[in-house]
Amino acid sequence: SAPKKIAIIGSGNWGSAIGKIIGKNAAQLDQFETQVNMWVFEEMVDGRKLTEIINNDHENVKYLPGHKLPENIVAIPDVVEACMSADIHVWVLPHQFVRGVCQKLKGNIKPDAIALSLIKGLDESKTGVDLISNVINKELGVEVNVLMGANLAKEVANGHFCETTIGCRNEANGQMLKEMVQADNFRVVVVEDATTVEICGALKNIVATGAGFVDGLGMGDNTKAAVIRLGLMEMVKFTETFYQGSQTSTFLESCGIADLVTTCYGGRNRRVAEAFVTSGKTIDELEQEMLNGQKIQGPPTAKEVYHLLTEKKCEDQFPLFVAIHKICYEGMPVKDFIGCLKNHPEHM
Ligand code: NAD
Ligand code: 13P
Ligand code: CA
Repeated sequence: SAPKKIAIIGSGNWGSAIGKIIGKNAAQLDQFETQVNMWVFEEMVDGRKLTEIINNDHENVKYLPGHKLPENIVAIPDVVEACMSADIHVWVLPHQFVRGVCQKLKGNIKPDAIALSLIKGLDESKTGVDLISNVINKELGVEVNVLMGANLAKEVANGHFCETTIGCRNEANGQMLKEMVQADNFRVVVVEDATTVEICGALKNIVATGAGFVDGLGMGDNTKAAVIRLGLMEMVKFTETFYQGSQTSTFLESCGIADLVTTCYGGRNRRVAEAFVTSGKTIDELEQEMLNGQKIQGPPTAKEVYHLLTEKKCEDQFPLFVAIHKICYEGMPVKDFIGCLKNHPEHM
């Protein structure tokens, strides 16, 4: 069959890092067309367009400085142009931008295209809270597989060994997507429990925000380990409550425990949450000051989850998630977080 054309939708920190791997694979493997399109949200960087910088210098100087992108990655500022001929869409955007991009793509893509979403977060609309993969599927009618794992973008770009998890909706496509993203030091396990894979990726960012709080309070590693454990218990409970049929074994994959650990030690959510405690500034101010255009997903995901929990009247079963939302957005004092850990239902 004809080689498959890949389009990467997004070009931030993670989009650029995975672009290095996908670009190399597309050049080497016959089953993928060598040119990979990358939709870049256009902006000016030092007086030049970011798309021109990427296409001339082969480096995303704003979101992944210091790394060369393969020359077969072609930056395109128009998302329809980037995607209309693609067989595979790789979604890798901060989750708040997904619906806007779907609106532009509607009616302008190949009907038999499939998607792989690397987006960690949840969607909230008038109809409630939903998985990002469901939003893309409902808006565009494409099959959406997911990839989540312990994958701090900078470390992946540096080629350090890590694992990841693909949650597939279809075994054959799962294998094909694995071939598209795997590398010598980027090992992929494909599972069929795509829903749990995606929920793990979304919820671990909330827990990492809590880990940053206890770092900011000057607590030690034992306290942080308790945040990680209690957070994991809430992740499992959330899945059991709202997504029945999920398998607990999925929490033992890279998307589960491993991503939770790496994000609670090395992630942006942790870093911003720590500064939230020590600086007294708001989450939005810190995101702007500290991340140079990158976005954190933990606090907005906590808000989305909080709305779902209050609607379903089960806040009391998820005190850690609830406290993280209230600390970020409702003025709850951070020191009360320790009380929330002490009185957790896991201890009763
Ligand atoms: P990022 O945090 O670097 O975000 C910046 C991106 O957002 C840039 O590409 C920018 O162009 C884009 N952007 C800004 N305004 C926009 C708009 N109005 N419309 C569309 N795009 C706009 O992004 P990232 O790190 O690539 O993260 C994308 C997803 O991948 C997130 O869900 C994140 O949780 C997940 N993820 C990130 C990492 C990581 O280490 N960075 C690792 C694994 C998963
Ligand atoms: P942060 O967004 O907290 O940096 O986490 C990145 C990530 O998802 C690592 O797998
Ligand atoms: Ca090729």
